[in-house]
Amino acid sequence: MLKEYRLQIICVFLIILVFLLIDSNKPKTVSSSDYETSNEKLIEVDLENVIEEVEKKTASENEKKAEQDNKTANENEKEPEQDNKTEITVYLTFDDGPSSASHEILDTLQQFNAKATFFMLEPAMRAYPDMVKRMIKEGHAVGLHGVTHDRDKFYQSEQAALNEMRTGQATLEQISGVRTHLIRSPFGSVPYLTDSFRTVLENDGFKLWDWNVDSSDWNLSADEYVQHVISQVEELVQAGGTPIILMHDRGETASHLSILLSYLQEHGYQTSVIDESAEPYNFNCYNRCYRIGK
Ligand SMILES: [Zn+2]
Repeated sequence: MLKEYRLQIICVFLIILVFLLIDSNKPKTVSSSDYETSNEKLIEVDLENVIEEVEKKTASENEKKAEQDNKTANENEKEPEQDNKTEITVYLTFDDGPSSASHEILDTLQQFNAKATFFMLEPAMRAYPDMVKRMIKEGHAVGLHGVTHDRDKFYQSEQAALNEMRTGQATLEQISGVRTHLIRSPFGSVPYLTDSFRTVLENDGFKLWDWNVDSSDWNLSADEYVQHVISQVEELVQAGGTPIILMHDRGETASHLSILLSYLQEHGYQTSVIDESAEPYNFNCYNRCYRIGK
């Protein structure tokens, strides 16, 4: 009896449990409008998220684009600077040659496809005629530097200076067939080359050239002269000048010339030869003389 009663209770309990389970699994009835609203909300939330995402993406893309534009603008700004640099002409000049170092100087110039102007001494031309010929053959300009390179002899009189230049001119022509009028007086035009000297030389058609960058290669060690030239070139170009570099035809200068030429090449300088038709550059002699041709 008791057993039967217990069984009944368990059955009832089980039935209740089954109902409860069914009820809990039944989907909650939501009115159609409620359902739509909640879905709309979901959609709205989703849309907001999507819009937010898109906006973020667009913003970051715009940022990237702006960065890119800036970069391009900067690059465009840099380009003309680069172009300007390629237009800067520099004149390399070597005095006192030819010498036993000329071949090394010419090899280095050739290696960098650079051109120079050589102001040569008459006895040196006679000693190294093949170097003179090679200079001309390889497109360099040739000029005269007199015969004695002796201050007392060259500047002794107008006629003495003129004769030295004429002798050099004749020897060069004899060796190479080239007749030049380019000259550089020993030690530069100031202070020795006064008005009367200039008139005499000018009347013979000579074009006198000084320099505005002194390498001091006769005085400084080989690597010091290169740095000395570079700093002067930078300063001069900054001030709008065209560098005319004085160097000497000698071994020490030749051994470090490639360092100078690498610098010039990397910074967009163009080497050029002095042209006879160009207006000569002379030191300012502050009323003690005047420029040839004026
Ligand atoms: Zn000299």
